[in-house]
Amino acid sequence: MKNNKKITVVGAGPGGLTAAIILVKNGYEVDLFEQNNDVGSRFNGDFQGLENWSDHEDTLDILKNLGIETNFLCQPYYGSDGLFYGPKLKKVVVKTSRPLFYLIERGAGNNSFDQGLRQQAEKVGVNIIWNHKLESIKEGYAIVSTGPKATDAIAKGFVFKTSLKDSFIAFLDNKIAPKAYAYLLVNNGRATFATCLFEDFKNERMIFDKALETLKSVIDIDINEPKKFGGFVNFFNKPILSKNKRFLYVGENAGFQDALWGFGIKYAMLSGYYAAQSIINDTSYKDLCMTHLVPKFQTSLANRWLFAHLTNYGYSFLLSKLESFDDVIPPLRKHYNQSISKKMIYRIANRWYKTKLINKQCLNEHCDCVWCRHGTHAHAN
Ligand SMILES: Cc1cc2nc3c(=O)[nH]c(=O)nc-3n(C[C@H](O)[C@H](O)[C@H](O)COP(=O)(O)OP(=O)(O)OC[C@H]3O[C@@H](n4cnc5c(N)ncnc54)[C@H](O)[C@@H]3O)c2cc1C
Repeated sequence: MKNNKKITVVGAGPGGLTAAIILVKNGYEVDLFEQNNDVGSRFNGDFQGLENWSDHEDTLDILKNLGIETNFLCQPYYGSDGLFYGPKLKKVVVKTSRPLFYLIERGAGNNSFDQGLRQQAEKVGVNIIWNHKLESIKEGYAIVSTGPKATDAIAKGFVFKTSLKDSFIAFLDNKIAPKAYAYLLVNNGRATFATCLFEDFKNERMIFDKALETLKSVIDIDINEPKKFGGFVNFFNKPILSKNKRFLYVGENAGFQDALWGFGIKYAMLSGYYAAQSIINDTSYKDLCMTHLVPKFQTSLANRWLFAHLTNYGYSFLLSKLESFDDVIPPLRKHYNQSISKKMIYRIANRWYKTKLINKQCLNEHCDCVWCRHGTHAHAN
């Protein structure tokens, strides 16, 4: 793709915008197609976290090294800024030497992460074509970052105004967040509360009501002007990285996600960055992913398998263990990165995990659809 100075990018999420920004900064001309009329339409002003435990480098330094500015709400939250509740509401505070995560806002709001990336893309000269759902690309190369295509986990929640001070609460309890967690994030008079489910989707409403009841039982909370939001995430056993030597898949569309807890933003941005780098330096995107992303992704799938088998007793044990560390970042990092035992567990997890993706085919061997999975693929392994 190196000699081709015009590249199409599909999808203005974190993956597509990162790829487009890097390409334009390196002298490429980029047409970025987005099916909606603005960024962030999957979200509704809800707060999310840029996790800061899985890498040695601080997440903000990683973004800086990618060439991404933090021109959006990005507030550090340390372990001591919040609480974890285990089953039976055992309260745990964890200690961290650096922020555990950076709180960001998602959606189309002025200060949102998505708007920040949009502004950076427009500033460098990415040509964004709004309201254009791209179904196929007849000629040339493309980076395809169209987000999740199936529901492997869901989140149901609401955003609201409150007088609570800035803080976070996370709950680990299968009764209110099956095989996942529920969370409250408060920033500057606004809050997000949601529960995540990796199973039992049909009972989402009942589970959400129980989660909210549990939240209200642990803090005095005023909830004003609530607005609902919800969403889903998607991950594969083996990310699909390219098709027909023309399309590079990034982000959740490639099946990249933190399979343990759904912290997919970093995966989306990094895979977007590596896709762009592979074009700029004429190197293999697959090799870059195999070196920098796939080992961690596989570890996250191993962690998912472990977490899914922990039960509430296991969560209690896990939280007491985390509470005992002077700094939880190093042990969390260790668990998020590959080791011999995690490689072995990944083998089991790989057989155990079945993505919910329905593999729609267009039945054309040399197709140019950006959405189907037909054609010659490069898998992650
Ligand atoms: C409720 C919720 C909470 C989350 N919380 C966190 C969190 O706290 N931390 C974290 O790291 N991650 C979190 N995630 C996951 C994170 O949001 C995603 O992993 C990330 O947004 C994936 O980025 P992406 O670029 O791959 O896809 P997306 O963000 O989905 O972007 C894809 C874009 O492509 C566009 N598009 C799709 N098809 C086409 C087409 N054919 N033509 C043109 N445009 C198209 C879409 O409109 C969209 O704008 C959460 C997800 C949800 C749902």
